[in-house]
Amino acid sequence: MATPVSGSASGGRAAPAKAAEAKAAESEATGKETTGAGAGVPQPADSAEMRPASAALYERAVKVIPGGVNSPVRAFKAVGGGPVFLRSGAGAHVEDVDGNRYLDYLGSWGPLILGHAHTAVVEAVRVAAGAGTSFGAPTEREVVLAETITDALPSMEQVRLVSSGTEACMSVVRLVRAFTGRSKILKFDGCYHGHADGLLVSAGSGALTLGTPDSPGVPEGMARETLSVRYNDLDDVRAAFEKYGDEIAAIIVEPIAANMGVIPPAPGFLAGLREITQGHGALLIFDEVVSGFRVGIGGAQGLYGIAPDLTTLGKVVGGGLPLGAYGGRRDIMEGLAPLGPTYQAGTLSGNPVATAAGLATLTVLAETNPYAELDARATMLADGLAAGAAEAGVPLRVSRVGSMLTGFFTDGEVTDYATAKRADAARYGRYFRAMLDRGIYLAPSQFEAAFVSTAHTDADIEYTLAAAREAIRA
Ligand code: PMP
Repeated sequence: MATPVSGSASGGRAAPAKAAEAKAAESEATGKETTGAGAGVPQPADSAEMRPASAALYERAVKVIPGGVNSPVRAFKAVGGGPVFLRSGAGAHVEDVDGNRYLDYLGSWGPLILGHAHTAVVEAVRVAAGAGTSFGAPTEREVVLAETITDALPSMEQVRLVSSGTEACMSVVRLVRAFTGRSKILKFDGCYHGHADGLLVSAGSGALTLGTPDSPGVPEGMARETLSVRYNDLDDVRAAFEKYGDEIAAIIVEPIAANMGVIPPAPGFLAGLREITQGHGALLIFDEVVSGFRVGIGGAQGLYGIAPDLTTLGKVVGGGLPLGAYGGRRDIMEGLAPLGPTYQAGTLSGNPVATAAGLATLTVLAETNPYAELDARATMLADGLAAGAAEAGVPLRVSRVGSMLTGFFTDGEVTDYATAKRADAARYGRYFRAMLDRGIYLAPSQFEAAFVSTAHTDADIEYTLAAAREAIRA
């Protein structure tokens, strides 16, 4: 399959209107879907700048849905212009409601490692749905999925299925507090763990101040139970433990940061977290909602050889349906009701259709082991982007782990939130729109990952690189 998009890299496209350059200047900061607070009020898009059918839907949407979207970053505030409404996806491509086709690197923000509408996933969903969409009683697939997860990630001796990454992280926080009898959680600036109150928190003025709410509606008392320090900085972590050591229940960390753009852990960082938590009787939680089954069957913990006490999963594990999971040491997990006193429940937990999509995805991944190929293709993309930018004299740092990558428009090294924020988000906005006009759909924010799927071909990558060279020059 070598016809990436209906347009051509030389700018031929199915006539999507040009988005306004000026909008980029308005959208600064991360504008993240994921941090909610940064997203603010979506700009009312000028319908003349939008693809016509998207503009018509957006006009209806804003009347009945806040900002016209069900998750903030979809409004395109961080890149300017108005949202593109999609109607279908197949393999590496999506199609919008105006009939324009795009080569897709959003991959639904991570779940679609096999691309859109993979036949095995669609068939599994069809069969499951035909046999009943929900029972609220145990089913066989939940057991098989739990076995599959615990086989892939040996640190997860037991696992509980939930319906989103947010729910997994929220639930694991309750569990670690109950288990340790401590209340504080240590997280890292720029890491995102869903929108539960206690996790929507960033550092105060100094790294060692207690957290401040990232959103109105998060009580300050709740935020004070969360500490936030610099990613990749073990000195910060040690200092926090010196001050609050016997109050900290756990560290929660994205072992590969993906919510300030992709930032790999510095050598020794994860091992340092393991050592520090063990030294202080605290637990270590890896939030592998993005990295789980994305960078390898064994996730980031397999890649770096560090076993956390607990792990959260989402995205790939649900194969594009609403499914999350958390699990880890048996002695901790046995604290959950009905075995133990810590309560957590869900009407749709372990849902038959979602578990079918997840199982189908994990089965294909186990049978085909596509990770070396994904890595090679993402490397080709990352190297090509860096080379193209260098030719054009545009500062670009491409950061990649496996099939996830971010090109930061900066010439400085990117190792944490502060250095990520130095990237030129307005320039990314212009680049994003130039790519969209060339039939390439990227994440609508500088501080997100691009995801390569098994449906992307070498020809798709070459097409993307040709488009990127033009877009960067433009
Ligand atoms: N943790 C991480 C690392 C994430 O990237 C996300 C979502 N982007 C979440 C948790 C929350 O997952 P969900 O959006 O499914 O609630």
